[in-house]
Amino acid sequence: MKEPLAFAVDRMLGRLCKWMRILGFDSRYVSVDSRKQIEDFRKDGRMVLTRNQRWRNVEGVFFISTDHPMEQVKQVTTALKIHRGHTAPFTICIRCNNPLKAVPKEGVLGLVPEHIHFTMKTFHMCSECKNVYWCGSHPRRMTQHMEQIFGQQIFNANSKEG
Ligand SMILES: [Zn+2]
Repeated sequence: MKEPLAFAVDRMLGRLCKWMRILGFDSRYVSVDSRKQIEDFRKDGRMVLTRNQRWRNVEGVFFISTDHPMEQVKQVTTALKIHRGHTAPFTICIRCNNPLKAVPKEGVLGLVPEHIHFTMKTFHMCSECKNVYWCGSHPRRMTQHMEQIFGQQIFNANSKEG
């Protein structure tokens, strides 16, 4: 895998985009309308992920051949030889694709449910939209999906929270 790996994910692939962010990859959610745009993304170091046949054989494009989000993630990780060590879960905001930074417990008082504030030690906040994340804010099903993709446990701290 070449690093750093960044993506421009076509509008029709919202869940795939979300997943690439969960895995820690800079993934812009875009509407791919022209070759020029694809070329610009390529120059910018972004690989275009699309399900649109029209772009299938264009340089800089990775064509997604399935409708199932988890299969799509698998398709990308397999083809690009992305393994667990390349991923950086909890580093990118799922909502807006900006970096998360660690914030002290005091910094999120009033921003998260009280019991979460009481029980969790580590919090991360988006530098842009200020969304707060903590271990367990991703549902368990998400963790299971990750394990399916990589064949091993990926989040340690998540297992207690459902
Ligand atoms: Zn954000």
